Amino acid sequence: MAHSNCNACAFYEDHAANSDSKLQNAGLCRANPPISQPAAETRGFWPVVSANDWCGKFSGAVAAE
Ligand code: SF4
Repeated sequence: MAHSNCNACAFYEDHAANSDSKLQNAGLCRANPPISQPAAETRGFWPVVSANDWCGKFSGAVAAE
């Protein structure tokens, strides 16, 4: 079974919004809301995925800006 990778998915964001440092060959998955929030006064973290990872929610549609 062939899979399309995260880096070709409409939900993949190719930069780090969770921290100031950019992760090598990784990005954020925006298919779902942030998964954790360290403290009540901080924001949640978006899931970080590898560029060549994949999942069953892959979408080739262009994401709305
Ligand atoms: S984890 Fe799934 S939905 Fe998220 S970017 Fe990768 S393929 Fe897309």
